[in-house]
Amino acid sequence: MKDSPASSSTDEPPDDDSHSERLRQRFNQMRLSPQFGVIHQLPIPKSHADDAGLLLSSPETLPLRDLSAIDRQRVVIVAPHPDDETLGCGGAIALLCDKGYRVKVLVISDGTGSHPNSQKYPAPLLQSIRSQETIAALGILGVEPNAISFLQLKDGAVPTITSPTFHQAKALCRNYLQATLPDTIFLPWRCDPHADHRASWQLIQAAVLSLGITPQIIEYPIWDWDTRQQKAVSNLSRINGWRLDIQSVLAQKIQAIAVYRSQLGQLIDDDPDGFCLSAEMLTNFTRPWEVYFEEVI
Ligand SMILES: [Zn+2]
Repeated sequence: MKDSPASSSTDEPPDDDSHSERLRQRFNQMRLSPQFGVIHQLPIPKSHADDAGLLLSSPETLPLRDLSAIDRQRVVIVAPHPDDETLGCGGAIALLCDKGYRVKVLVISDGTGSHPNSQKYPAPLLQSIRSQETIAALGILGVEPNAISFLQLKDGAVPTITSPTFHQAKALCRNYLQATLPDTIFLPWRCDPHADHRASWQLIQAAVLSLGITPQIIEYPIWDWDTRQQKAVSNLSRINGWRLDIQSVLAQKIQAIAVYRSQLGQLIDDDPDGFCLSAEMLTNFTRPWEVYFEEVI
């Protein structure tokens, strides 16, 4: 999860970057190309209030489903930061592992942005700690260390479609997907308020399209749970929201979240501006269900 999304703007493109514009156009062409048959026009946030809505306005009314909603067994969970996989999908991961699904986790960024001013925990040490926390948390949920990969892109600067380094990062994602060939991918919600989350969605989607594979894509919200950051999103009619019943593994998920001591204000004490997951936000991730979204094709 890392940091307040408002502070992560280092991946914004320069206004007059024609190269970035060409990348944007190419990506749009890919998204709309019938040959891929996966992605249609994407819901892009607009300022018009008349056709927009809040994604999580009444999550408790979304239909409750079981694991049959995830019908294909090679599963990849994509986390923008070390902890998003557990916060957003920890229950699903535990249930899937318990059923014998092959669950792999790809962590996109290095997590070094959570405490940028700490003297005791400079970036290399913080990166190491956060990776260890991820391995320990996922161990509780049933994922072996050799099923966890760290892309280690810079926290707060994961390349978006308009970034000059987007294609380089996309190639890393493509290689990963080519090696793992998932038939279900959990991605951060495409319109999450945090730029790294949106960028992670874009990278994986572009890699999926370039490979011509058609996995089931399931998206999970993180920062949309923060009502101060929620933004209205248009075309919600094309998004199916549902809840996964995780009551039977909730204790496991809570135990796994507790491993992330660096993000819970229990480890690093020399950076007053460092990130700390609030109790209010935690309540959203410790319910007996998790919320997911899928695009209606
Ligand atoms: Zn995150």
